[in-house]
Amino acid sequence: MTTEIVSSNELKKIAPVFGQLSFNDHEQIVFCNDKDTGLRAIIGIHNTVLGPALGGTRMWDYATEWDALNDVLRLSRGMTYKSAITGLNLGGGKAVIFGDAKTKKTPELMIRFGQFVHSLAGKYITAEDVGMATSDMDLVRTVTPYVTGISEEKGGAGNPSPITAYGVFMGMKAAAKYTFGSDMLEDKKIYVQGIGNVGEALVEHLSNEGAEVVITDINRDRLEEIRDKYNVTIYEGNNIYSEQMDIYAPCALGATINDDTIGQLTAKVIAGAANNQLADENKHGFMLREKGITYAPDFLINAGGIINVYAELENYGKQEIIRKTENIYNTTLEILGKADAQNITAHQAAFEIAQARIDARKKEQ
Ligand code: NAD
Repeated sequence: MTTEIVSSNELKKIAPVFGQLSFNDHEQIVFCNDKDTGLRAIIGIHNTVLGPALGGTRMWDYATEWDALNDVLRLSRGMTYKSAITGLNLGGGKAVIFGDAKTKKTPELMIRFGQFVHSLAGKYITAEDVGMATSDMDLVRTVTPYVTGISEEKGGAGNPSPITAYGVFMGMKAAAKYTFGSDMLEDKKIYVQGIGNVGEALVEHLSNEGAEVVITDINRDRLEEIRDKYNVTIYEGNNIYSEQMDIYAPCALGATINDDTIGQLTAKVIAGAANNQLADENKHGFMLREKGITYAPDFLINAGGIINVYAELENYGKQEIIRKTENIYNTTLEILGKADAQNITAHQAAFEIAQARIDARKKEQ
């Protein structure tokens, strides 16, 4: 018998959804279309074993429908593992809306989207992601209870970014403890790439601790504002990856850890907020391990945001949010130890613990 090798393009043609490289046994994928408001969206429900699939809605002007589908599949899978490793009773889901949020987002479109979310009867719970604001979630809330990330005035937990930054800070400290023998960051040179909502709050923690912070961003005004506010240094070069540093904190884009950058990196620790930092989870995880760079898995240390919105469902307060977020320190240490003991990557170690939790719950059901 001969085995026919099917190219990924061929696979897309014969199995356009289930054949996607990012398809990973997702439970349900919902395509939403509304001519009147111009809404086109995809809701991806990856796994609901631990609880309802919670994850934000991203509005983006995707170049192709494939890009949108790929994004929602990847992001919803990531949410499953983020919630599982954090010990939350939530599954993984995510939604994408096609279009430029600055020009195409209208109240009618958001309300129609909320109605689609409602039609899933709580299997998927939404929140904000790129292109969404708390006020958009307030609008969705008018037609469905299955939404989080609503404003504090409306009973929500408000902006998750400071909590996300605090979790990243905890994960970074744990990775420093593991690598340098101390979690004090005062003498460490740390590059923060991307000083948006999360990056700024991280810079504040780091400068309070006396670290030597260098910042980089594509927005010059923002750089100057943050430099003046926290007395940190702006990076003026054009390739931060080859700079001398102790810690690299990616807080802007995904996939910055790749074939090109790993060889150049001098950092001993990588710990940041960006999602999907490793261009290839397995390959680049191993390359970091071989080079002796400690990698704090992104989906573990950036979980502060989901902890914050989970509070809206479970009705716990700020104190519990902080306690759960501080626990990222212990979990990071546990995972780095497991990775070493088993000679696997930190990403794999985190993934295995998350998967074991899902499998155990499934057996009970
Ligand atoms: P943000 O949009 O507020 O900030 C991103 C910053 O990165 C901006 O200042 C932007 O100018 C900058 N940037 C973009 N491209 C860049 C580049 N090539 N080089 C340097 N800087 C660049 O976003 P945020 O809410 O701060 O989130 C940062 C990252 O953390 C994102 O990847 C996001 O998905 C992830 N994350 C955020 C949260 C949260 O609670 N906000 C939770 C989990 C994960």
